Amino acid sequence: MTLPGRTAETVSAPTGSPARAHLLHTGNLARYREALADGVDRVARRVATADRPFTGITPDALAPRVAGIDLDRPLGDAGAALDELEDVYLRDAVWFHHPRYLAHLNCPVVIPALLGEALLTAVNSSMDTWDQSAGATLVERHLIDWTATRIGFGADADGIFTSGGSQSNLQALLLAREEACLVAPAADARRDLLPRLRVLTSAVGHFSVQKSAKLLGLAPDAVVTVETDAQRRMVPAALRREITRLRAEGLVVMAVVATAGTTDFGSIDPLPELAAVTEAAGVWLHVDAAYGCGLLVSPTRRHLLDGVERADSVTVDYHKSFFQPVSSSALVVRDRRVLRHATYHADYLNPARMVEQRIPNQVDKSLQTTRRFDALKLWLTLRVMGPDAVGALFDEVVDRAAGAWELISEDPRFEVVTRSPLSTVVFRYLPTGRGRELADAANLYAREALAASGAALVAGTTVDGRHFLKFTLLNPETTLEDVGHVLELLAEHAGRYVRERTATDLACQVG
Ligand SMILES: *Cc1c(COP(=O)(O)O)cnc(C)c1O
Repeated sequence: MTLPGRTAETVSAPTGSPARAHLLHTGNLARYREALADGVDRVARRVATADRPFTGITPDALAPRVAGIDLDRPLGDAGAALDELEDVYLRDAVWFHHPRYLAHLNCPVVIPALLGEALLTAVNSSMDTWDQSAGATLVERHLIDWTATRIGFGADADGIFTSGGSQSNLQALLLAREEACLVAPAADARRDLLPRLRVLTSAVGHFSVQKSAKLLGLAPDAVVTVETDAQRRMVPAALRREITRLRAEGLVVMAVVATAGTTDFGSIDPLPELAAVTEAAGVWLHVDAAYGCGLLVSPTRRHLLDGVERADSVTVDYHKSFFQPVSSSALVVRDRRVLRHATYHADYLNPARMVEQRIPNQVDKSLQTTRRFDALKLWLTLRVMGPDAVGALFDEVVDRAAGAWELISEDPRFEVVTRSPLSTVVFRYLPTGRGRELADAANLYAREALAASGAALVAGTTVDGRHFLKFTLLNPETTLEDVGHVLELLAEHAGRYVRERTATDLACQVG
């Protein structure tokens, strides 16, 4: 006798605890549809009416509103909770779709990816094992293979989706550390080796390299900085010299981290030349392309990543230059065998016999266990738009950044740093005459005053110890007029600051 499947017909209306009315199940599909449609509608209304990227609200003003909500007293329905959420979140959120959001590496997101997000959380697949994901595992693997092919890796490549570039970099360095430790399999030899391991990167490499070194139990001075040129790219001859110097001191270079798109300057380290150095020295080359990975699909600029195929591992952040919602990142390796360093077999989850049975358990390659099916967002993006369309969006913002660079370089009120091959522009307001000493303070002030007004958001950084401002352009909707307008606002804020400060200084001198 076969039992009937449990479907809407065979399951009666919800009984038992009223809480069950909130679970997604056959009896509650109307509620599911309504709640999600309401949420979508609220976001759409906010997007339609946001006239600034930010309201400029301060943490002090917002904190009491959030803290005042009694989490032990529920509102009972989604509509009421969303009304409340307008007050604590939606009204004062930072909107990345707004053309005057020019600050960090946050992108506006493509709609197919949002559709993917809605689906993946509702189905709630977990990527650790085949028996919690099924087709999702195959979709993720297909996307990793696709990315590896775009990188130029061969058939031995593999990889894994991660929560972000920091985690991808951490895993890359874990694999590199384990490869370096293969020469010292005995526990005491490994203990001797660990403090002697070194990681080389440039001064403008991402700080997650330092953090990873700490997490991996390396020495406090394990990350060694390699000289950069005027374009803020690692100098290959300097890398070769550093490797020789460290080895002469009895140290072991565990990995070189090249950056393909530095967070501040968008500079791309000279990958073919660096690969030649690491290949000759037999050192692991990791390419952090968290930012520059969008070039993999660029119809016009793919050549800027030439040489990436010679890396041992590559970090890609789809949530930066592929217009994907957070989180969506991957670590891709040239030789799948290195991923075994992330493998542990747990009897309850992924026993070793499953490998022999060829059951694909992604947890065998991941630092995470339960893991989101983020890959679905990229999948729907590629299936709806295709890679060229995504690359064209990235190309647009790179073009816009070139335009912005020219605009600023022609403006005598500002000083601009080296031109980025990607989409950042680092510059500062340069007061004239006596105000010149106030340059640092004026730029800090201008950035804060602009953010407080909410009219636009820009980032800041330091260049050779001085305070600079930074645009990160990731929104094709941002026009050069927007950029020009933001420059006017910055010049106004900074100029006012300098005038007021020099006036008070004068008054003090006179008094
Ligand atoms: C953003 C970034 C990272 C970190 O990525 P997250 O996704 O924020 O963790 C690493 N490297 C570079 C070059 C980046 O720009």
